[in-house]
Amino acid sequence: MTYKFQQLPQLVDKRGKLPSKGSYNKRANGVKSITTRVWHHSLTKLSAGGSNIVSFANFHVGTNGWPEIAYHLVIDPNTIINGKAAIYYCVDISKRSYHVGNSNTIGLGICVIGDYRTDKLSAAAIGSIIDLRNALIKDGIGKYDKSHNEMPGYSWKACCVYDYNKAFKDILETIVPPVSQNPSSPPDLYTIQEGDTFWSIAEKDGPAGITVNDLIAANPNVDPTKLKV
Ligand SMILES: [Zn+2]
Repeated sequence: MTYKFQQLPQLVDKRGKLPSKGSYNKRANGVKSITTRVWHHSLTKLSAGGSNIVSFANFHVGTNGWPEIAYHLVIDPNTIINGKAAIYYCVDISKRSYHVGNSNTIGLGICVIGDYRTDKLSAAAIGSIIDLRNALIKDGIGKYDKSHNEMPGYSWKACCVYDYNKAFKDILETIVPPVSQNPSSPPDLYTIQEGDTFWSIAEKDGPAGITVNDLIAANPNVDPTKLKV
């Protein structure tokens, strides 16, 4: 079956095309075993030469002795497709890949290339993080999102470092301060209308509104007996 996430325009299928030494085993209950989308970073700087999926696969297979690359999906901010970071589909999601130890059976491994102790998430990276997560939710793959270091036994690990919750909401929005919604603060400006007095203005908002004395104090240059429209 083809999932929605596989149809994302910036997704490139790399299954079976990366350095490997055999194959991971299937999850006990297939894709239904997945409860958690686990977010990683590669801990390699975006500007470093080895920050790519072939190098990661070589390291995981050659040095760690694993069958394939650790992650099911890798987001590469250095490669832009359709204005967003490339998403590489590396290991079939039905397989129990090695990325979170005891939680491998329930975890889907998603890695964003970069070392986010010093690198910053780009808009192109955030775009693909959001697209991938939304598609996985529609596909019913996983119920929760966790960073690697929120998984049991990994609190010591500096992974994923970037604030994935802010990325889901688009971090660019969160730097705009929210509009103050304090209902008890009176309006700053009132336009005098025909027939208004300070007393009638003060009465408009009832007991919760401004008092006549406060209105006089706030308008020292206005003569209450000579209001003009
Ligand atoms: Zn990790």
